[in-house]
Amino acid sequence: MRTLREVTALRGCVAGWKAEGRRVGVVPTMGALHAGHMSLVSAAQAGCDRVIATIFVNPRQFDDPADLANYPRTEARDAAMLGAAGVDVLFAPPSEVVYPPGFATTVSVAGVSRELEGAFRPGHFDGMATVVAKLFLMTGAERAFFGEKDWQQLQIIRQLVRDLDLPVTITGCPTLREPDGLAMASRNTRLSAAERAVAPALLVAMEAAASAIRGGMPVAGALSRARAAVLAAGFAEVDYLDLRGAERLEPLATPDRPARLLAAATLGGVRLIDNIAL
Ligand code: AMP
Repeated sequence: MRTLREVTALRGCVAGWKAEGRRVGVVPTMGALHAGHMSLVSAAQAGCDRVIATIFVNPRQFDDPADLANYPRTEARDAAMLGAAGVDVLFAPPSEVVYPPGFATTVSVAGVSRELEGAFRPGHFDGMATVVAKLFLMTGAERAFFGEKDWQQLQIIRQLVRDLDLPVTITGCPTLREPDGLAMASRNTRLSAAERAVAPALLVAMEAAASAIRGGMPVAGALSRARAAVLAAGFAEVDYLDLRGAERLEPLATPDRPARLLAAATLGGVRLIDNIAL
């Protein structure tokens, strides 16, 4: 596996692959890799001839400077995992390659970016959309792989690609979970042992709500019961635990179309997000 940090070198490498008729896929990440990320790599390898993984802890998508400072950075270990998995190129640019002095452009997807995470993390999705658009243009990949773990992010990226006619096909991959159901996430390493034991309660409450709603319980009642259960389990705060339309994420009072239950809650200072199909 080659590690590249400059756009010119990356473009040269991809141009060579394309000249040979290879299909190129990209897996964008912020590093601190776990099995969830590696499942995206496997999906990319199954659908493409050459795979680029990117690692970039994007400062523009952090609304909280402490979260950015504390975000785990483990590039040597990540590179070893990606190399062992057979990834062709790791693109890990320094910040000044992505955002050179004078950088002035923001990509902003209206509507779906303003809901849920967007309401609690101002600017987060603009930062994400800006860097993802850049990564598509820098890599020139034909296919890109993202996790359903970040369901709202996935819908925003699909909208971005449609709106800008970006020549890339997006594949969403299922959420990988720990044996007790906790969605794998780089931030999980920041949970204490006691918090880690409480963390699966979020999914338990969401699944109970989903099954109550499927069984005919009114949505509002099922959701408020689930929020109370998450707090009772030991979470400090529930930012949202909501039923939404699966694509546009509009609020749903009744499950009359494809729907997603999405939640964000804080446990010991670590903000966890999860989502499930209804
Ligand atoms: P991140 O490094 O957290 O920005 O995530 C990079 C990519 O990995 C995103 O597309 C995430 O949705 C995806 N991802 C993160 N956690 C998981 C997981 N538990 N299962 C599947 N995909 C995941």
